[in-house]
Amino acid sequence: MPKTPEDVIRDEIRALTAYHVPDSAGMVKLDAMENPYRLPAPLRARLAQLLEDASLNRYPDPGARELKAQLRRSLDVPEGMDLLIGNGSDELIQMLVLAAARPRAAMLGVEPSFTMFRMIAAFAGARYVGVDLRDDFSLDIERLLAAIEQHRPGITFLAYPNNPSGNLFDAGLLERVIEGSPGLVVIDEAYHAFAGRSFLPRLPRHPNLLVMRTLSKSGLAGIRLGILIGAQRWIGQLDKVRLPYNVNTLTQIVAREVLQHGDVLTEQAGAIKLERGRLLQALQRMPGVSAYPSDANFILFRVSRAESVFDGLKRRGVLVKSLHGSHRLLADCLRVTVGTPDENTAFLSALTQTLNP
Ligand SMILES: *Cc1c(COP(=O)(O)O)cnc(C)c1O
Repeated sequence: MPKTPEDVIRDEIRALTAYHVPDSAGMVKLDAMENPYRLPAPLRARLAQLLEDASLNRYPDPGARELKAQLRRSLDVPEGMDLLIGNGSDELIQMLVLAAARPRAAMLGVEPSFTMFRMIAAFAGARYVGVDLRDDFSLDIERLLAAIEQHRPGITFLAYPNNPSGNLFDAGLLERVIEGSPGLVVIDEAYHAFAGRSFLPRLPRHPNLLVMRTLSKSGLAGIRLGILIGAQRWIGQLDKVRLPYNVNTLTQIVAREVLQHGDVLTEQAGAIKLERGRLLQALQRMPGVSAYPSDANFILFRVSRAESVFDGLKRRGVLVKSLHGSHRLLADCLRVTVGTPDENTAFLSALTQTLNP
């Protein structure tokens, strides 16, 4: 008898539902925290030239030396800290968990937060402890410190700003988490471009801290580049589980060139932040909607029946993300990514029509 998936695939994998990416063809796509702006034409032409000259018959530079040197400058990496790059920060989370998943080790995070922390822990067969945030999405510090004391996690993951709530946790409380943790603490700064606050300068002060960034949310989601920054004694160990050539030649070339023109991404982030303000105000003024302030490029908001509002928006050509049912604190919540002024206007009018048919 041939073996079935039940015989071969681990129980915890069969119990998962695959990460669902909805079809967005022809829609105003405000579901995935992408930057709505493309690169300026002259920069795109320059990239085409560089790609034409690239030796695609060769493996990429395994150490990505030139890209890393550019990242050090662009990110202002503190003296003495090392970099690990990944095929998106998702791959870095995977490397972290793979390297730390000792038998019975726990990984810990807050809830609700970025779902890949929990998913990747499941992929690696690691235990994941989720500690609820308070009702206003701030850290429940006593509960968090107690859970860390009880489970002694190998890694604690905290997104700063948090996804899907959009807020920055109190920096002083995060310091207490770092200092109270026997293991590593990873501060995931995927939305740094829209927040302006960072734990990067604090790296030299905390021997158990790593900071993670990505280019995905600031305009280069298509190339997949994540960056982990920290002390060599950690990065050197994590580098051992990295697959050779994990960051391809095209990504290395494009990232390096675009980062040399970093002002382009900064300007786009500025436009997105301005629109975030307008969108938040409009949502807060809308009867039947309560919207949460955000330090990221998306806004979480609550309506009275999220599923039907989601469907109403979709019928009117606007795709957002429904978080209803994913956590107690997210009941009737939707998350909208800040788009171009026109996209945001289309979203607001579709929402108005949906709420007042
Ligand atoms: C989107 C997101 C990521 C994923 O980034 P990639 O670099 O595209 O893999 C990581 N962390 C958080 C909190 C995110 O919201």
